Amino acid sequence: MDNCIFCKIAAKQIPAQIIYEDDDLLAFNDINPAAPVHFLIVPKKHVATLADCTAEDAALLGKISLLAPKLAQEQGVGYQADGNGPGTGGFKTLFNTGPDGGQEVYHLHMHVIGGPRPWRRSLA
Ligand code: AMP
Ligand code: ZN
Repeated sequence: MDNCIFCKIAAKQIPAQIIYEDDDLLAFNDINPAAPVHFLIVPKKHVATLADCTAEDAALLGKISLLAPKLAQEQGVGYQADGNGPGTGGFKTLFNTGPDGGQEVYHLHMHVIGGPRPWRRSLA
């Protein structure tokens, strides 16, 4: 997709701090982090918003969701369960959709945000 900044990152036409890559997905640090850890998981193929996803994208969305806790763990903000209690650590996952959802970049991305609070800004 011409003029899509995340397509350009996926095509390595502009730089980003990439923390994960496979055939379908890319994850890189947010350029304006809201918290000590803030990265984005994006599909390599262009999909504008969560609302544009179809049943064909179910596996892709599943892959994104399963990757989030794995990368959060690697980035030092994983969640540790603790029996029946709330556990420790953890992170926020977020898809902004459309102007009223606060979406600025129209290429599907999941925010993964974590680290000790207070955070620098809130996206939710
Ligand atoms: P959203 O408001 O959900 O569309 O979020 C877009 C996010 O992309 C924001 O948190 C931006 O800081 C981030 N962003 C924009 N351009 C870049 C870039 N070149 N590299 C990394 N993150 C970016
Ligand atoms: Zn794109």
